[in-house]
Amino acid sequence: MTLELKLTLDCPRCGNKLTLREYNKYVQLYCDKCNLSVTIRKRIILMRHVDYDDDVLDWSSALDFLYSLLKGKATASY
Ligand SMILES: [Zn+2]
Repeated sequence: MTLELKLTLDCPRCGNKLTLREYNKYVQLYCDKCNLSVTIRKRIILMRHVDYDDDVLDWSSALDFLYSLLKGKATASY
């Protein structure tokens, strides 16, 4: 099962609204207009963005991280 959510974030390449997709082991930030995407393992997010003292996921920092990867890809492909 795939969870798919439209985000209010703009694609760094074309300005279209981005989509967040959640797969079994991966999360993907995706633009359905120019096909720019970045996919990372959920484990990376769990390692980087969960505070295990309180079992809290800092989702906004996780999304910032995904978005920064996408921006890197957008500029690298030119
Ligand atoms: Zn785009």
